[in-house]
Amino acid sequence: MKKINILILLILSTLSLESIAADCEQVIESNDALQFNSKAMTVSAACETVTVTLKHTGQLPAKIMGHNWVLTKSSDFMAVAQAGGAAGPQNNYVPQEDSRVIAYSKIIGGGESTTVTFSTTDLSSSESYTFFCSFPGHYAIMQGSLTVID
Ligand code: ZN
Repeated sequence: MKKINILILLILSTLSLESIAADCEQVIESNDALQFNSKAMTVSAACETVTVTLKHTGQLPAKIMGHNWVLTKSSDFMAVAQAGGAAGPQNNYVPQEDSRVIAYSKIIGGGESTTVTFSTTDLSSSESYTFFCSFPGHYAIMQGSLTVID
């Protein structure tokens, strides 16, 4: 009986890994309470490109509770997040032509959604990545890890 249970567990974990690996299009939600609905995202290097759809399920306008989705190496996260504040709303609070920025979406408000597509070519499974919202003051809470799997 125990052996059967272990076998079932093995099959289930294999299935869930495969479904994650095939997920080249991902959706993440944000809200009026400064939260993403995920703290950890996983993308497969087998995806040539990954498309992330950011939804804002709140009601507050972008100038008050704007959110975006920005991806950097974890080691670049803090510096880019701080530079984003200086870049201002006209640049979606993202430093422009900055090679540390792997991908970013525009800032959206409640009820809106946006998508960003990026290549996995330069991403590595041995690197640690952080996604965050660069709206001033949000990155301390609105952040999570992004892992690349081969
Ligand atoms: Zn935000």
